[in-house]
Amino acid sequence: MSQERFREALNLNIFQIISEAAAEIGQETYVIGGFVRDYFLGRNTPKDIDIVTVGNGIALAKKVAQKLPNQPKVSVFKNFGTAMIHAEDMELEFVGARKESYRQNSRKPVVENGTLEDDQNRRDFTINALAISLNPENYGALLDPFEGRKDLQAGILRTPLAPAETYSDDPLRMMRAIRFATQLNFEIELESLQAISAQKDRIQIVSKERIVDELHKIMLAPKPSIGLKLLLETGLLSFLLPELEALLGIEEVEGQTHKDNFWHTLEVVDNISKTTDNLWLRWAALLHDIGKAPTKKFHQKIGWTFHGHEFVGSKMVYRLFKRLRMPLNEKMKFVQKMVRMSSRPIILAQDHVTDSAVRRLVFDAGDHVDDLMILCEADITTKNPKKQRRYLNNFKVVRQKIVEVEERDHVRNFQPPVTGEEIMKAFDLKPSKEIGIIKEAIKEAILEGQIPNEHNAAFDFMMEKGKTLGLTPSKT
Ligand code: ATP
Ligand code: MG
Repeated sequence: MSQERFREALNLNIFQIISEAAAEIGQETYVIGGFVRDYFLGRNTPKDIDIVTVGNGIALAKKVAQKLPNQPKVSVFKNFGTAMIHAEDMELEFVGARKESYRQNSRKPVVENGTLEDDQNRRDFTINALAISLNPENYGALLDPFEGRKDLQAGILRTPLAPAETYSDDPLRMMRAIRFATQLNFEIELESLQAISAQKDRIQIVSKERIVDELHKIMLAPKPSIGLKLLLETGLLSFLLPELEALLGIEEVEGQTHKDNFWHTLEVVDNISKTTDNLWLRWAALLHDIGKAPTKKFHQKIGWTFHGHEFVGSKMVYRLFKRLRMPLNEKMKFVQKMVRMSSRPIILAQDHVTDSAVRRLVFDAGDHVDDLMILCEADITTKNPKKQRRYLNNFKVVRQKIVEVEERDHVRNFQPPVTGEEIMKAFDLKPSKEIGIIKEAIKEAILEGQIPNEHNAAFDFMMEKGKTLGLTPSKT
């Protein structure tokens, strides 16, 4: 069977196949959760489909796999009583209906077999508890005991059971509430919001990985500020990103104020989210000003300054990533670099833009110069339309110059046009500090525009430089 045909058959029949398999082993079975929710919302139907069955989930998964063309593998997670089938680009997850009870210090419940109703009760939100029957007697019927459809229409996140217990049982749900509110642009029902605020401390029993997963989803939403604002209002932010919360507020000394860098940051994040889906660039926007809290000073003559905040901020990025167990790899280095360089194009754009300044920018930013420009454009949050136009226009000039300079000088991923070996050979040198000095001088001459980035010009320059250092050219 061709791939295309296979996929079609699968999409059309998957629920029928599950239905037949369930009937054969005599288990009530339903589609539940995200798939049903997104189906009614008209969102892209998700590729992961949750199936709940009253009985043994693993047995059902095995039966379904037998019936599928190409008989895919069943991954069994015995400890959880769940099983998963990857079929094409779909992920089918099977679970036996369960009843859960929680203990105080863990978000891992004690699990017993239960009815569909028990299983719907344990779900986090009414909109996630919707189930569609796959049973022959009422195939396709919607089972909606908590009026989840109504909440979908009204755009409300509400818990099936009492909010206080729901969030206390599994505090990850606090993050999920805020994440769904952000992704779907829904309101969290007031009682829920109050319960989250009251229990914010319990976020500490949730693993960093799960928290960060939700933070990423908030950051990838069309308007991340919805979630960031909710994190602030509920008090969760002070556990998760205290560096960000420290930017909140405006101080006034001798009649001089500075802008509120928290709300400014949220605007920057929303701005950049219109231009890029790059998660890490969005994180860079979120963290670009965190160095401003610890570097803030008031000077009688010049007013408020945040001297060196970019450098301090980039150091803070490391500590923040480490604390949240985020990857300490090239992603983090990218965020650090964006934070460290976040003012460079702005300084450029304020002045007359020289070629050498642009060459230095491209040299330092390397392949990330375009991302840096996107960040700086998003950083313009002035409400003065005249100023906004001027800044954007200046950045256009910078962008134009970047293209020109790059075409001419190729400094983006700078490779020295003269190698250390050539220098050693030219002056009969052993490895020594002169080589470094000459190399640095060549690089400087290129960035300053004294010589083009070419071998011959750099070679001549090297001979001259060597002489000024008192070196003698070799005879050969
Ligand atoms: P998405 O896949 O878009 O993140 P989803 O709703 O499918 O959204 P999953 O994490 O895939 O979320 O979970 C599937 C379903 O399992 C949810 O719809 C919900 O019914 C239930 N669920 C998941 N996590 C929890 C939880 N922490 N507490 C209660 N129910 C949960
Ligand atoms: Mg899902």
